[in-house]
Amino acid sequence: MSKVEFKTAYAARVFDEFLAKNPNQPEYAEAAQGILLSIEQFVAKNPKYEEQKLLERFLEPERFIQFKVVWTDDKGKIQVNRGFRCQYNSAIGPYKGGLRFHPSVNASIIKFLGLEQTLKNSLTTLPMGGGKGGSDFDPKGKSDVEIMRFCQSFMTELYRHIGPDTDVPAGDIGVGGREVGYMFGQYKRIRDEHTGVLTGKGLTFGGSLARTEATGYGLCYYTEEALKVILNTSFKGKTVIISGSGNVAIYATEKATQLGAKVIALSDSNGYIVDEEGIKLDVVKQIKEVERGRIKDYVAKAGRGKYFEDKNGSKGIWTVKADIALPCATQNEINLDSAKALVANGVIAVCEGANMPSTPEAQEYFINNNVLYGPAKAANAGGVATSGLEMSQNSERLSWTFEEVDKKLHDIMVNIFYNCYENSKEFGKNKYDLMTGANIGGFKKVAEAMLAQGL
Ligand code: NDP
Repeated sequence: MSKVEFKTAYAARVFDEFLAKNPNQPEYAEAAQGILLSIEQFVAKNPKYEEQKLLERFLEPERFIQFKVVWTDDKGKIQVNRGFRCQYNSAIGPYKGGLRFHPSVNASIIKFLGLEQTLKNSLTTLPMGGGKGGSDFDPKGKSDVEIMRFCQSFMTELYRHIGPDTDVPAGDIGVGGREVGYMFGQYKRIRDEHTGVLTGKGLTFGGSLARTEATGYGLCYYTEEALKVILNTSFKGKTVIISGSGNVAIYATEKATQLGAKVIALSDSNGYIVDEEGIKLDVVKQIKEVERGRIKDYVAKAGRGKYFEDKNGSKGIWTVKADIALPCATQNEINLDSAKALVANGVIAVCEGANMPSTPEAQEYFINNNVLYGPAKAANAGGVATSGLEMSQNSERLSWTFEEVDKKLHDIMVNIFYNCYENSKEFGKNKYDLMTGANIGGFKKVAEAMLAQGL
């Protein structure tokens, strides 16, 4: 983490105290530092926050739970993993955030994700607090029954900490519909109740239509509004590169194309394809959603385009010339070199579908070079927003149509944009800096709710 100078004594002091209290938690510290830098000027204009120790209170999770998860593999061997749930902030609603199953999961990562989630959920305008959880369990190579046994054991502890009005987890890396289903089944068995305690459920037991499309579609709704207001243009007639070819990338491609753009590149962790005529999305869906194949299969199946092997997975695609870039693969996929390549090729907007795809140096480079920059915490909030809509449908015991959910998603994303934009106008570096606005907009609502609720 690079050391930065804060402009206000209050933020500097809070960050020093934070580092002393949270040693050896680099991901958590980097997130806290970034947020403090964005909001310190706004906080300085509102002395009540310092008087009420709001920053200190905000940067302390309400609860952090760590537990052991013991299960048996298919050979009958005992396996021991670690489970986590960080209930970061409940000022504006029940804790809400995904569960991640990946060997890299640790306390620092879960707290960092819980903090970011708190601001993202606040931006959605829905009544959702922030949380995150997971385990260092690696689902890769495990049988279906092993996954089920692990999920049941995980929920056998987690169930006592969550509930539809307390904490509503969802999926994240390594946790999809299958895992959510197994965890929901175990919760129902233990509690003997069928409630909306998890989101991302199957459509037959309380899931929401349009959840699959939500993050990619939401990204494009946000980007379209930003293009209109800040650059007086739109997707229409623009060329677009999108990294990844998973859930977010596929539905961002679909919506960008519907809005009149031509998506010319997609990737996976082995390489990328370029099709100057416009990607045939039905071919990509067949490869990725049905056959679970690789993006290089596109050229043979579509009968056009070019494939480029890319050992780094996410480097080459950023050298393709296009008007708009939507990173939708993974974290840190755009470093300073890639940002320079995009700017040199005349990119006008970079909006993030993945979580934290641009490094801090890349973000700064975009903003300083007048590239419209849509930060992940705002631009990809459509996924969690639609999870919030799933909670509403579960509470009502109703299922809304695809069109109803999609319309609400659209309105939420447009609102998120204006929230970022208005706050950035006052405190951002320039009109392309929507990151400052996203952090202030998210923080403001949580801070006011915390103040109103007393100590
Ligand atoms: P998927 O697993 O469906 O797809 C991820 C895609 O990214 C795959 O095509 C994968 O390729 C590719 N990828 C992974 N690592 C690299 C790499 N190093 N270089 C190039 N490509 C890579 O995930 P999602 O689409 O659901 O999620 C993508 C991102 O969006 C993640 O950051 C996620 O946290 C974020 N996000 C997702 C939400 C959702 O609702 N799904 C909500 C909010 C954020 P390969 O097949 O080779 O691994």
